[in-house]
Amino acid sequence: MRGQDSEISRRTFVQSAAVPALCAAAGYRHIEAAASLSRREAQFYEKLPSKKIRCKLCPRECVIDDRERGYCGVRENQNGTYYTLVHSRPCSIHIDPVEKKPLFHFYPGTLAFSLATAGCNVNCKFCQNWEISQVRPEQVRSAEMSPDQVAVLARDNNCISIAYTYSEPVVFFEYVYDTAVAGNASGVKSVVISNGYIQQEPLKKLCSQVDGIKVDLKAFSEKFYREVVNGELKPVLESLVTIHKQKTWLEIVYLVIPTLNDSDQEFRSLCQWMRREMGPDVPVHFTRFHPEYLLKNLPPTPLATLERAKRIADAEGLHYAYIGNVPGHPAENTYCPHCKEMVIQRTGFIIEKMNLKKGTCAKCGTAIAGRWKS
Ligand code: SF4
Repeated sequence: MRGQDSEISRRTFVQSAAVPALCAAAGYRHIEAAASLSRREAQFYEKLPSKKIRCKLCPRECVIDDRERGYCGVRENQNGTYYTLVHSRPCSIHIDPVEKKPLFHFYPGTLAFSLATAGCNVNCKFCQNWEISQVRPEQVRSAEMSPDQVAVLARDNNCISIAYTYSEPVVFFEYVYDTAVAGNASGVKSVVISNGYIQQEPLKKLCSQVDGIKVDLKAFSEKFYREVVNGELKPVLESLVTIHKQKTWLEIVYLVIPTLNDSDQEFRSLCQWMRREMGPDVPVHFTRFHPEYLLKNLPPTPLATLERAKRIADAEGLHYAYIGNVPGHPAENTYCPHCKEMVIQRTGFIIEKMNLKKGTCAKCGTAIAGRWKS
């Protein structure tokens, strides 16, 4: 949240300070920009005539000539074989409270060992981390850190989970998957913070190894996805339903941007769709927009707009609708959907009070959806 990041911007921190510091502390090699890329055969692509390939990782399905890269800039065709260039090359590493992702129903009050590589498969005009998401791996400093090393570092730093975050984990799928496997072998969980713009087969494979996924749903209209994100809504909605069906813990964040995705009708359509397709227990976070990157002409989201979104979600029967990026607001807390008792009190990323007993409301015993410490 901005207020709590004011001393040093999140972007500055994730890109410059944390990588060398954590690498030095752990004794791992830190690579300057333009140093060697990794080269590991990618998953989910098909070979085409004339040494071309078609990438099947995300719905964009880039067709790529020899010696060219896909839209995300981190996967390259070399002589008809497709490679990921960022396996084991995180450019941002930090230890965050899991609430910062935000994940509110996933082991609250715990730490997540958070990492990213360069690259993204969309181009949101409001991206907060464009300096790592919209660049090629040669343009950022990175560390050399294997999946096993990440798992050890996470465990040694008291993190119960590894979070793949900041840029877009879909484009460093192979690193995410291998690290989640390594984490599982060491008793460390994995959570993915994603735009959900991924094909079904890799998504199901991911769900088999990770414990939670937070999806940034950018809007509930194809027009917005086309004009502001350079992506598509439909595959993202399919991803949400799949994640839920796979029983991987899911939370949704909806960044509310004044004039672009903030109408009553859009909020209502989203909430009705969620209720119909996934039931009432998937948390949704309506978060405040701050002018960033290519959308500096718009103001921050008025609090009244966020409260309107929350009211609509409540009226449509969603059990866990939150307001985000407004530290101290009562809608940061979790309330029992049955007796309305406050079961988790938060201020920003801090857990003030927990009134849960083994995942149930301490007052009435109703199960609160989520993943909880026993
Ligand atoms: S993952 Fe990258 S290369 Fe593959 S289809 Fe998506 S944008 Fe294109």
